[in-house]
Amino acid sequence: MIPNNIERIHFDSMNTCNLCMMELENVYDNLILSPEEIDLLDMPKRSFTVHFPVHMDSGDTKMFVGHRVQYNDARGPTKGGIRYHPELNLENLKNLAFLMAIKCALVNIPFGGAKGGIVVNTKEISRDEMERITRAYIREISDIIGPFKDIPAPDAYTDEKVMVWILDEFERIKGKHVPSIVTGKPIELGGSEVRNISTALGGVYVLEEALKTTDLDKATLGVAIQGFGNVGRNAAEILYERGYRICAISDSNGGIANKDGLDIPKVIEHKYQTGTVLDFPNSKNISNEELLTSDCDILIPAALSKQIDGKNVRDIKAKIIMELANAPTTLEASKMLIDQGVLVIPDILANAGGVVVSYFEWIQNLNQDYWEEERVLKKLNQTMIDAFANVHMICIDEKCTMRRAALQFAIRSILHAERLRGNL
Ligand code: NAD
Repeated sequence: MIPNNIERIHFDSMNTCNLCMMELENVYDNLILSPEEIDLLDMPKRSFTVHFPVHMDSGDTKMFVGHRVQYNDARGPTKGGIRYHPELNLENLKNLAFLMAIKCALVNIPFGGAKGGIVVNTKEISRDEMERITRAYIREISDIIGPFKDIPAPDAYTDEKVMVWILDEFERIKGKHVPSIVTGKPIELGGSEVRNISTALGGVYVLEEALKTTDLDKATLGVAIQGFGNVGRNAAEILYERGYRICAISDSNGGIANKDGLDIPKVIEHKYQTGTVLDFPNSKNISNEELLTSDCDILIPAALSKQIDGKNVRDIKAKIIMELANAPTTLEASKMLIDQGVLVIPDILANAGGVVVSYFEWIQNLNQDYWEEERVLKKLNQTMIDAFANVHMICIDEKCTMRRAALQFAIRSILHAERLRGNL
């Protein structure tokens, strides 16, 4: 709830982000915000919708809709993914762009937040159609993106290949090389070392900092991971190599468990051979619901949003939840986890490693100076440790959850930048 003493001057704008307002309400108790500050945070600075025709393989021409939201650029050019999804809508994109602004401020990289995409089901189009759709979308938004304006990245159903089409189309329009227009590129075209594992690795760095604040002994900890894609698989591999016992993991088909620990390199090989983690030797098949409530110390949701909800939260046995997926815990479950004494490392901190290494990629592109793996690892490690320390200090000072502390830190930082610019 917005405190009663705050008189809203809010004008009824079509552009207000209702989901962002709900996130902000979490921190109103601790942050004393003026009506102007709330209004500034409640809506994106710019949101664009474009319509464009594309020739399909059939010979027909079809109209497509694309969006790009630039939420806040007080701290630097906006940064955020481009996703392709049939149910993509502006309200969700506003919220995701807001969260990108929060994430960048939290890990103290000089970017604002953006998000965009095209309303399309990638399962229903060919690779050639996807390329033509991508290039047409970039032609529509080429004036509003740029290395010092707004830098796209991969997101749901877009990958390295799509980033190359974006790079190539943008460079054709501008008539020069501009590798810093997009991140998530292949190394050969200006991508960064470590990027493929950056989200998972950033999460592991934060987890290890969090563990130092508890009396839990790493050697005895069991970990359950939901999701075995880019983030979940890499998290499993990194934690396994660091000596953690991975006692359950799952993919969209279901999960496997072995309380003594799974041999992750062999599970990866099994998944590669069979297309699923199920039926892995010396393990028992379990459902995804069983994975979430399994007997583990650390639970890592790394697949979908809204997985931990009011129905299953009471059965969660983990002492720590590290949210590598975006928004895997509902608001209701988040509140209940506080009462249950579970330490939740929130998504905006846990999965920020990806955007941190994207920032490193952008710097390398601008300077045309490419870093060795060791340098990227060291800088990612330090960035995540610093972000954790800032959040942890607020948790102690204000006796609040990490989610609230992280939001608070980020919002203060964005508002500070706005104030320095004279916008508030
Ligand atoms: P991905 O598509 O590579 O993998 C998703 C995995 O989830 C797959 O293994 C899939 O089988 C599994 N899955 C799907 N439905 C499931 C279900 N019902 N139960 C269990 N597993 C299920 O995606 P990703 O890149 O690994 O992203 C995972 C999550 O992390 C998403 O929420 C994403 O938004 C978030 N995230 C990713 C990055 C990144 O750098 N890739 C960065 C920040 C946040």
